[in-house]
Amino acid sequence: MNTYDSEVIAGILHANGYQQIFDPKDAGLIIINTCSVRKHAEERAFANLWDLYHEAPKTAKKPIFCVAGCTAKKMGKEILKKYPFVDIVVSPSNLYDLPKIIATCQKTKKPQLQIEDKIGYIKKNFPVIHTGKIKALVTIMQGCDNYCSYCVVPFVRGKEISRPIKNIVTEIKSLVKKRYKEVTLLGQNVNSYRDGKNDFTDLLKRVNAIPGLKRIRFMTNHPKDMSDKLINTMAKLDKVCRHVHLPLQSGSDWILTKMNRGYTTAHFLGLVRELRQAVPGITITTDIIVGFPGETEDNFRATMEVARQAEFDAAFVFKYSPRPGTNAGLLKDSVPAEIKQSRLEKVNRLQQETALRISRGLIGKTLEVLVEDLATDRKHLFGKTAGYRTVVIKGPANCIGKLIPVKITACKNWTLYGKLS
Ligand code: SAH
Ligand code: SF4
Repeated sequence: MNTYDSEVIAGILHANGYQQIFDPKDAGLIIINTCSVRKHAEERAFANLWDLYHEAPKTAKKPIFCVAGCTAKKMGKEILKKYPFVDIVVSPSNLYDLPKIIATCQKTKKPQLQIEDKIGYIKKNFPVIHTGKIKALVTIMQGCDNYCSYCVVPFVRGKEISRPIKNIVTEIKSLVKKRYKEVTLLGQNVNSYRDGKNDFTDLLKRVNAIPGLKRIRFMTNHPKDMSDKLINTMAKLDKVCRHVHLPLQSGSDWILTKMNRGYTTAHFLGLVRELRQAVPGITITTDIIVGFPGETEDNFRATMEVARQAEFDAAFVFKYSPRPGTNAGLLKDSVPAEIKQSRLEKVNRLQQETALRISRGLIGKTLEVLVEDLATDRKHLFGKTAGYRTVVIKGPANCIGKLIPVKITACKNWTLYGKLS
């Protein structure tokens, strides 16, 4: 979501005569787009901000410093107090006014704070500069109404609003004209997408019908809203990739209730079974939080057990980070740091074993790969399978941007190796 926002910032500023440069020392304007989902992300953003400030000229040529995104919304004025060299603080729903805000800052020479919630900006089509050349992110929703107890997103990104189908389709058609092959539709909970009578499955059908587009991905799917209708639609539509990101968060029903997630582990495992049946070979990835307040050894063992049964292809595992303002933030952060660390390592070890087992099962198979670029060694190519596996390939550079059949010959954890078949 933040990557997409940064692409929108680049697009809007470019349309207003700005030019993106890659050495911060030459910049007249430096924007840090922040994430506030965990404390660690915030700390990193401010460490970067300090580094950039120290490197920048302090004379009349001092660049304008702008802190954007969710932490800007959350901390507001406090940023201007703590970092007096910052000129602009702007929340996600005000990014679209950046050219105006910058102009006011230059004219008045006064710090600008724009963090009030604005609804409906998602309804407009803004210019976007996509970072990749073959696949692009496309936002379909703003905000979130779910209020999972640990999560700051609803407080910093506001109410959930869907973008009209018409605008999404226009954006994707223009991407296809620019030779993009794949889009990832983004929302905090794509399952609750709505535009009038149309739901997410209708949006998928419309996007699937766009000529020239090869692949469709989406994230994130909240397990409480994942419908049979969506599973069947995924199975039917040829461009929809066989991959779903379905965050489990915890394998303990007691913790799930305290997280306000709205499903049980039995429901979750039922979805996994249904998905595997309807979409053979589907990749299922997940998010897991370890060390939520009150999480006992037994609760954690339950998470390991569900992860074992679900056989996730990959899991993003996070140590619980208390977020002020959330309901869980009021609870004592009771699990000691070293226990959180050891639980995180245990889930990661289990996941490595599972990923390796699944990868070994793919050796000898021929999979369709969208080739993205040269690999880091510049001698091979790399791309992704429909199941989002990275494949390093022996093949000619003119395969970049194409869907090609690849015979898998070897694997290393999550990464596969293969040759043109
Ligand atoms: N809308 C998405 C999640 C966005 S945040 C969803 O519902 O899945 C991405 C991930 O960050 C979450 O899935 C969760 O695993 C993690 N996360 C969110 N808040 C967190 C916190 N306070 N501490 C640790 N991890 C957190
Ligand atoms: Fe956060 Fe829950 Fe919304 Fe995801 S669904 S953004 S975890 S509140």
